[in-house]
Amino acid sequence: MSDLHLDGNGVAWLLDQITGAEATTTLRTCQACGDRRPLGDHRAYMGAGVVLRCPSCETVAVCIGVQDDHLTVRWHGTLRVELVPADGAPA
Ligand SMILES: [Zn+2]
Repeated sequence: MSDLHLDGNGVAWLLDQITGAEATTTLRTCQACGDRRPLGDHRAYMGAGVVLRCPSCETVAVCIGVQDDHLTVRWHGTLRVELVPADGAPA
């Protein structure tokens, strides 16, 4: 981390709102370098919105616009979201 960015865990509240689940552990495969890393490992840059960048190559991974009553999200790369059965038992 630096003064310019957080890691993705710093915006966990926002990622969880988008996915409705624990998003920081969701794996993303980068469209540029092919690395697969949890969203929580990505670098989060805060400004007019939030931009997550690949921790390996810095390519833009997720852009999130935060408005009063909604979010606008642009995903890049591939996400692997683990499904949890309704009874909570392992699949
Ligand atoms: Zn990358």
